[in-house]
Amino acid sequence: MTSPDGLLSRHRAVLPDWLALYYERPIEITRGEGRHVWDAEGNRYLDFFGGILTTMTAHALPEVTRAVTDQARRVLHTSTLYLNRPMVELAEKVAGLSGIPDARVFFTTSGTEANDTALLLASAYRRSNQVLAMRNSYHGRSFSTVGITGNAAWSPTSLSPLQTLYVHGSVRSRGPFAGLPDGEFIDACVADLRDLLDQTGGVAALIAEPIQGVGGFTSGPDGLFAAFREVLNERGILWISDEVQTGWGRTGEHFWGWQAHGAAGPPDMLTFAKGIGNGMSIGGVVARAEVMNCLDANSISTFGGSPVTMAAGQANLGYLLEHDLQGNARRVGALLMERLREAAAGVDIVREVRGRGLMIGIELVAPGTDEPSPVLASAVVEAAREGGLLIGKGGGPGGSVLRVAPPLSLTEAEAKEGAAILERALAAASAAKATTGGVA
Ligand code: PMP
Repeated sequence: MTSPDGLLSRHRAVLPDWLALYYERPIEITRGEGRHVWDAEGNRYLDFFGGILTTMTAHALPEVTRAVTDQARRVLHTSTLYLNRPMVELAEKVAGLSGIPDARVFFTTSGTEANDTALLLASAYRRSNQVLAMRNSYHGRSFSTVGITGNAAWSPTSLSPLQTLYVHGSVRSRGPFAGLPDGEFIDACVADLRDLLDQTGGVAALIAEPIQGVGGFTSGPDGLFAAFREVLNERGILWISDEVQTGWGRTGEHFWGWQAHGAAGPPDMLTFAKGIGNGMSIGGVVARAEVMNCLDANSISTFGGSPVTMAAGQANLGYLLEHDLQGNARRVGALLMERLREAAAGVDIVREVRGRGLMIGIELVAPGTDEPSPVLASAVVEAAREGGLLIGKGGGPGGSVLRVAPPLSLTEAEAKEGAAILERALAAASAAKATTGGVA
């Protein structure tokens, strides 16, 4: 057992200052199994955040470990210049699952790179560098993806190779259309979109997360993108669905987030990442062949689709489908939502508990106000850690949404255990605020 302190100072001495770490005493995770991880001091945590970080299915899933080691023993990586069986096989599966007709798949190593590629394709196909993105969106922090990030706090530079117009729709509870019923909210967002487009020339694409992830697990009403799609179709504008957090069944009801929008789908392109590799670096773009093939390029990067990561993706996807983890997300997600709503009932710092499947956000406010409280969010996250539970924080327009996104194999018992820890953490943060005179 080692203290993380020595490692922390070495981290600070050699890594960028902007590489943020969670917790006042950052955690070094040294082992994982199922839905649990252990730190270097031997503490055990139930992981309610890793599901959207990388570990979609379960930590150290034996099926994935076996596939990776088998593949690594044979060949680690060659190049996209040679035929690559694991890549072809995974591409066939992903194309088939995507819902996009005549789909082609390009693998990358991250979600950022996947979105970067989708933007490159859209701008080449439409011969335009103008794009539409949603307010409060997050799509990565590369040079092009910060240009479509609809929250200045997550964007390290205001410069961009893209010209971006931001659209309303994913945040229901704040902004000019707050409080409108679903139909009127959609109509207002569509009118806003039309107005934007009437003043703009040939826009390449709309990129959007069906449920905003970093943005605090918030989404427009079902059908919003169906309504947007009509407007986009009139003008030949492509629709890119960023499924990095919503893909592979996490939302329970649907395999992809875009499917909640019924008549809207399928999109022209979808991007995915993280979860599919269950810890190995996989991202990718699925696009209609006509869009994917518009580029005159040999490749974009030579490393995406490495056989080891593809083997991991196949084993992970196989496990997910075989064990119906989408169904598990629906069932256990419903239980978890119920428990978290009970836990939050009457707690004066909770504004809303929302989400779908195993993607649940708890929005906090300073008591008696409608003001986001990132300080309270940090207090709950610290208290949860003390109780043995890891959750995400910092999402949302005001940085005060707690994010709950466990691996999709979460059991009912673990859901109850995690909800109970969170209940105590919320109560502790709420009580501390009362004795210190408020920590908004
Ligand atoms: N898109 C979304 C919706 C994301 O949540 C993220 C990461 N949080 C990304 C893209 C970027 O993915 P990555 O970190 O793998 O580059």
